[in-house]
Amino acid sequence: MMHQWQFLCENRELLLHRMGHTPRAFVKTFGCQGNVADSEKIMGMLINMGCEQAEDEKQADIILYNTCAIRENAEIRLFSMVGELKRLKQANPSILIGLCGCMMQQDEVVRQIRKSYPFVELIFGTHVLHTMPELLNRILRGERRVVNCYEGEGRENRIAEHLPIQRGQGVQASLQIMYGCDNFCSYCIVPYVRGREVSREPEEIIREAKEIIAMGYKEILLLGQNVNSYGKGLEHPINFAQLLHQIEQLEGDFRIRFMTSHPKDCTRELIDLIAQSKKICHNIHLPVQSGSDRVLGQMNRRYTREHYLSLIRYAKEKMPDVTFTTDIIVGFPGETYEDFLQTLSLCQEVRYQCMFTFIFSPRPGTRAAQMPDPVPYKEKTKWLNELIAAQHKISEEDNRAMEGKVLSVLTEHPAQDREGWMVGRCENGMIIKFPAKDVRAGSFVKVKVTRGLRSEYEGELA
Ligand code: SF4
Repeated sequence: MMHQWQFLCENRELLLHRMGHTPRAFVKTFGCQGNVADSEKIMGMLINMGCEQAEDEKQADIILYNTCAIRENAEIRLFSMVGELKRLKQANPSILIGLCGCMMQQDEVVRQIRKSYPFVELIFGTHVLHTMPELLNRILRGERRVVNCYEGEGRENRIAEHLPIQRGQGVQASLQIMYGCDNFCSYCIVPYVRGREVSREPEEIIREAKEIIAMGYKEILLLGQNVNSYGKGLEHPINFAQLLHQIEQLEGDFRIRFMTSHPKDCTRELIDLIAQSKKICHNIHLPVQSGSDRVLGQMNRRYTREHYLSLIRYAKEKMPDVTFTTDIIVGFPGETYEDFLQTLSLCQEVRYQCMFTFIFSPRPGTRAAQMPDPVPYKEKTKWLNELIAAQHKISEEDNRAMEGKVLSVLTEHPAQDREGWMVGRCENGMIIKFPAKDVRAGSFVKVKVTRGLRSEYEGELA
């Protein structure tokens, strides 16, 4: 990073020269919280190069799209959005257009961009994000186009610490504790584009957590593709529960969430810690993906339905107020209606607070993309609708059952649809709206639930 700071300083002058005024930068983020965290680092570096944050593409001198590779058709959407930028470039040739993120780790996508979008000057992958000042410097010094998507042959993850971060304005700050993934679920592109799993040193995480608390953020969201396996490979191994314990010991008025957990690595030690903690929210995102052991095997998830349910039962026994959210893939290749019914029954047993449901979409390069997939999309849509209807019923019943309960709420912002109302997030993860004229965003308050709707509560200050 010392090396990069030199470019960062040089770029201030060069950008001013190229633009003729204080440059404005716009970073558009696609995909998950990990990408949001990366964009905060990109913007942090740009601010340190003298840029101001632009509201949108039209106001910007530097436009960067931080891409996501998870969903099918994402390339088509990206290509069409990048195509739109051509007009901006024609109107003002000094603007600088760049692409980064997971999709730039895919050779075919990069080849297509190089061939068809000559006005994209900067292309870089996730592994070299920290070298952005240097890559930008090469463009500002006259190179027509700079492409750097891999760091070395092995695409191994290395962690660049001490990058400047331009955090969002809300009450929550994200904190990346690890990068990459070793799990190779058969449908998932992440291990190919993000590389092998690597954990940050706990001292660095604690340093950043202290910074976040000192800046006044009230919620820390710990991020990683599989936070439950945090610590493997460190010189002095430490597990996720031990790291969480160190963070919750920090002084200050804040709470902690984390994502994403993998059921195969979720331990009882972790559940015990959450149950005892006053700062870790009793709200766990635990993606199950399927309720059928046969499908779980095909997905290479490496746990069984029974193992998953035993974790849920244990957590509910230790924390009667715990809530779960999940991800479900419907219509995995070879999944039958009987398999699907097992997913449905698992969901009815767990009673998720909410679920993120997807119809299977093949990602080229993954094992699942090669599997025979005989069930028509229309049929899968019917299954999905059945699942969503069941979930709506559960949400309505469970949220109504919360009426009269008093919950700890972190206020987030004034409600846009109701004058004098505030929007907050309950410890259990639900959004709650309530009248509160004199309460500031970022306060912890007690709120009584007066109405449990399908996807949020209404309440009153208790
Ligand atoms: S755990 Fe599985 S689904 Fe999650 S990122 Fe890793 S490979 Fe993908």
